[in-house]
Amino acid sequence: MNVEHLIKQMTLQEKIGQLIQILPSVYSDDHEDVITGPVAQLMKESGITSENRWEIGSVIGINNAAQARYIQSQYLEHNRLQIPLLFMADIIHGHRTIYPVPLAMASSWDIEAIEQMARQSAFEATVSGLHVTFSPMADLTRDARWGRVMEATGEDVWLNGEMAAAFVRGYQGTDLKNEGTLAACVKHFAAYGAPEGGRDYNTVDMSDRELREFYLPAYKRALDEGAKMVMTSFNVVDGIPATVSTYLLRDILRKEWAFDGVTISDWSSIKEVIFHGVAESLADAGRLAMEAGVDIDMMSGAYLNHLEEAIEQKRISVGKLDEAVLRILRLKDELGLFEHPYRGIETMTEQAVHLAPEHRAHARELAEKSIVLLKNEDILPLSNQKIALIGPFITSTDVLGPWAGSGKTEEAIPLIEAFREKGIPFSYSPGSGVEEEVDWEAAVETARQAEVIVLALGEASWMSGEAGSKTDIRLPKTQVDGLRKLAALNIPIVTVLFNGRPLDLRKVERYSTAILEAWYPGTETGHAVYNLLYGHQSPSAKLTMSFPHHVGQMPLRYDALRTGRPADIENADMRYTSKYLDAPNEALFPFGFGMSYAQFDYEQLTLSHHDCGHGDITATVKVSNTSTVEGDEIIQWYIQDQVAKVSRPVKQLKGFNRVTIAPGTSIEVELTISLDMLAYLHPDGSHSADDGYFTLFVGPSSTEGLSAEFALNRVVKEIQHEH
Ligand code: BGC
Repeated sequence: MNVEHLIKQMTLQEKIGQLIQILPSVYSDDHEDVITGPVAQLMKESGITSENRWEIGSVIGINNAAQARYIQSQYLEHNRLQIPLLFMADIIHGHRTIYPVPLAMASSWDIEAIEQMARQSAFEATVSGLHVTFSPMADLTRDARWGRVMEATGEDVWLNGEMAAAFVRGYQGTDLKNEGTLAACVKHFAAYGAPEGGRDYNTVDMSDRELREFYLPAYKRALDEGAKMVMTSFNVVDGIPATVSTYLLRDILRKEWAFDGVTISDWSSIKEVIFHGVAESLADAGRLAMEAGVDIDMMSGAYLNHLEEAIEQKRISVGKLDEAVLRILRLKDELGLFEHPYRGIETMTEQAVHLAPEHRAHARELAEKSIVLLKNEDILPLSNQKIALIGPFITSTDVLGPWAGSGKTEEAIPLIEAFREKGIPFSYSPGSGVEEEVDWEAAVETARQAEVIVLALGEASWMSGEAGSKTDIRLPKTQVDGLRKLAALNIPIVTVLFNGRPLDLRKVERYSTAILEAWYPGTETGHAVYNLLYGHQSPSAKLTMSFPHHVGQMPLRYDALRTGRPADIENADMRYTSKYLDAPNEALFPFGFGMSYAQFDYEQLTLSHHDCGHGDITATVKVSNTSTVEGDEIIQWYIQDQVAKVSRPVKQLKGFNRVTIAPGTSIEVELTISLDMLAYLHPDGSHSADDGYFTLFVGPSSTEGLSAEFALNRVVKEIQHEH
């Protein structure tokens, strides 16, 4: 399609229409009646009428092929220029088959498995008629109070980028014209993951260095991988709502990064500029968003109601409008929509693709790789002990997480079902619901006869996700009370946790013999957890967000800058070091931590040479599986820049190897240290590495392993030590 030619034939109203995104209900004949409540109000405010709905450019939230077919056909019948509608939705961790939530799948550190998840999700979504997914969410997160941490991949800038890129490759494939592909929309631009106090939608304020070094790179990485769209965020950055920030959207996104794809506001975020106190009216807000370069207005009504006037009064140039329209038409063209407005639904059926056995199998495997073993005092894997299943999540199917697409809880396998399928005898008592006691005394009586208690606890899925912020990140009180009562029996307790954020697990840690952090594992929950409990798979996942001792440590990050008052400095006056009086500085379970049923030993960290000034250094390390079971290990490489022009993190992840090691064998893995890994943002804005000394760390987490020193254009003083 020659979109440049097409745009010349469009009226002003038709052009503006392309910039509007609305709900599918607008296309039901009695659309004014079917939608109720706040959404109805929004629709009314958006000025959608029976007539102008045939000029709209895109729709948010269709979820099945019949609906897509109906709306597209109605639309094409009425739309003068036959420009097909674009259907977008939140396909976050699966469409019908639900995979572990993003924070969980991040714990797999399995880039290929994540890409495969995205590919399968795209297939399932395209056969339901979708064209664009509002994913990946590349927001860096350090604050477990923020409910949306479960939609992100964690606290490390580089790892987030690698994962965001994997999502994009999986969704988009090599060509959007290929079957089963979705365009990816990276979000939320920018820095949405750093709201003050962890409260959703709240103010974000950070230095430009912090923004550029930690918060922006993962979005950039997704765009470098070819992501077609960018969604703005609700928050302000440096006082300006991100949705109208010319600094973010024009200077950085369009100019510095040369992004020429489509931008979209978040849900009604243009209107929210008024509530931020940065626009007087919706018209004003719309003009600011247009000026900043927001192409599509999701659900605020600003463009639909006010753009025409703004253009007529020359407050917005037609040139700006045309640029936006062109980008949207180009995306439709890239998706092949002009030739195939029913792409995805004309050749494949939902029945054949949704919940396909290979999708379920992958969902199970990814869940097994996502579940983190946090503690194990010689109790896991289970063998043939007498089991009591206790706790609200033994039978719960609320295990899909808050963004479960078209997934149905009744299609999720709860833990109890897996035990039944496998014919494992057990006794069962719930003890409590998520928040309300049912009968802990009965649960204690049930457990009394058992040799091992499998206790499934957690947060309801509504307790995290959007608007799911909390000041208290302990488990609900009744569950902790129940755990304490069960602990008095002196029977080993294996606690399996279902939740969407790092929790304060001090009590759980104290009273449990083993802890499996299952997150929300998705459709295949029961099977995956069962396989790990019984050692059919060895746990291999490692945390990508630190678990604190106490919520008061938030925000918490492994890659913190150093302070001038470290507690381990020689002769420190302990009173005046940088610490809390009532909690440790460190995480209870740090970034990168996760146990296995196998045992791994790290030795012989060697460097090809010690000065990066003489070419890239190859570091190698030998890792042995000293146990009798096979296991996967995630070997992590970190670097510290010892002295720089600005204070640098204590260490930063620079690479990892996810390897399978047979019992009694060893492998050698390597990291190539390039100058690029040592570079950072200098005060003068340049990005380069300084001469000097660096420390390389390699190990099973951010806090254990071996280290060695190397240099850039210096003679190395000291070679290797344990840390
Ligand atoms: C969320 C976005 C989401 C959008 C559309 C918003 O409330 O912040 O992440 O993509 O809704 O559902």
